[in-house]
Amino acid sequence: MNMRSEHYIDGRWCESTSRRRMPVFNPADESQLAEVALGDASDVARAVQAVAAAQPAWARSGAAQRARTLRRIADGVSARETELARLQARNNGKPLAEARLDVADVVSCFAYYADLIEGADAGPGRSDAPVPLPDPGFVARMRREPYGVVGLIVPWNFPMVTTAWKVAPALAAGNAVVLKPSEVTPLPELALAEVMHDAGVPRGVFNVVVGTGVDVGAPLVAHALVRKLSFTGSNAVGRQVMQSAAEGVKGVSLELGGKSAVLVFEDADLDQATELVFAGAFMNAGQMCSATSRILVHEAVAAELTRRVVARARALRIGDPLVDGTEMGPLASRAQLERVQQYVAVAADEGLQRLCGGERIGTRGFFMPPTLYADVPSTSRLWREEIFGPVACLRSFASEAEAIALANDSEFGLVSTVITRDAARAARVADAVEAGLVWVNMPQLIFPQTAWGGMKRSSIGRELGPWGLAAFQQIKHVVQPSETTP
Ligand code: NAD
Repeated sequence: MNMRSEHYIDGRWCESTSRRRMPVFNPADESQLAEVALGDASDVARAVQAVAAAQPAWARSGAAQRARTLRRIADGVSARETELARLQARNNGKPLAEARLDVADVVSCFAYYADLIEGADAGPGRSDAPVPLPDPGFVARMRREPYGVVGLIVPWNFPMVTTAWKVAPALAAGNAVVLKPSEVTPLPELALAEVMHDAGVPRGVFNVVVGTGVDVGAPLVAHALVRKLSFTGSNAVGRQVMQSAAEGVKGVSLELGGKSAVLVFEDADLDQATELVFAGAFMNAGQMCSATSRILVHEAVAAELTRRVVARARALRIGDPLVDGTEMGPLASRAQLERVQQYVAVAADEGLQRLCGGERIGTRGFFMPPTLYADVPSTSRLWREEIFGPVACLRSFASEAEAIALANDSEFGLVSTVITRDAARAARVADAVEAGLVWVNMPQLIFPQTAWGGMKRSSIGRELGPWGLAAFQQIKHVVQPSETTP
């Protein structure tokens, strides 16, 4: 597999109209991995034109045909698992073991949407399904139609995964897409484009334009032919996307930030709780929208759990993502390291009690250790704001009611984790926390059958499951007098 560095437009690899290029780095050693095309509005326009030309035939090709194509994509990703995982690890900095999980997630997502639409020509979700009416003089049928030209914008923390969660349902529904990957991690998406090309995705149906948010993202959102946008990223940019989309009255799905809580009760298995708390806060170096970076622990076990989590942090194997046994790699970029370090400075200003971590490791590569603060008050910026790095806040509670109130004390509501041996309490707490997905006594596994997305300012809409497909479909009803139907 070649390392691709150009845009993928209308089934071809091509330079930017401007011929400009930008560097892409390996965050583990700061070396330049590639120089990729740096697109602008004219490249976006070319891609949108290709999409507009290709989409009607793709929509007409039928769900069964599209399902076959999605399955070939899943097979193509699976066949290149090792290369794709290594590329993820090199461009994003995540340990190879985590990158492999990402690739497996991409495969299952494409396979899931293939299965879901396979029966769509005939099954319950089919287009042209009859709609029962109370008046026998009339008949109605319901159609699910694609939007047509769709724009997809993704961040750098789970490059191929956030992409698959959009591309698979968008194509399954009969749309054609322009994808804008993050300028920090465009290489995995370009590799995915190669897989899709080899899988026989018709030209123009899937396009990738590489570049910055300002140069490529904004023109894509604003383009008059784009009818639906699906964005994953920060709240600040999500707001801009929504404002710009409002001008053209376009459909918008947003997957934004989080500041999620894990709740550890006094009856928890502390070995299990230590691992779940640790992974929830520090997997992918904490660069997860779903990071459970507010760690709430019952006061009876708070001291012991804290001791264990700090010991785990100090023993963590941090280093080269490609080396076997590495548990945490670098942050994905210098900008992200600087952003996270600013929060360490804020914590010092606020007089927070640091239990471990804080300092950058070395001077080459963007490494930072797990960093924990104790007894963080609700007024602290570290309690309220998404940090998106290996920094977490610990806090104890005295009662179930207090734990739930603390968990819900956030403008975000993406996920939550509940750890207790009491099944009734687990159910009560899971029902009471304001989050789109709650895990009970388990790691953050995501199945394509369950929805992804959150409450409050975390999301508009849901990805995955049938809801992820519906996000890329429009409903049409056709109603007529009974005697006029054939
Ligand atoms: P970001 O918002 O800076 O960038 C996301 C994408 O938007 C990038 O491709 C960027 O180039 C593009 N962009 C920037 N400005 C734009 C503009 N004006 N118009 C259009 N596009 C523009 O986010 P990031 O730093 O790449 O990612 C981190 C954020 O993503 C965090 O807030 C995290 O919580 C969020 N995230 C959310 C989920 C979720 O499912 N809820 C998943 C992953 C990441």
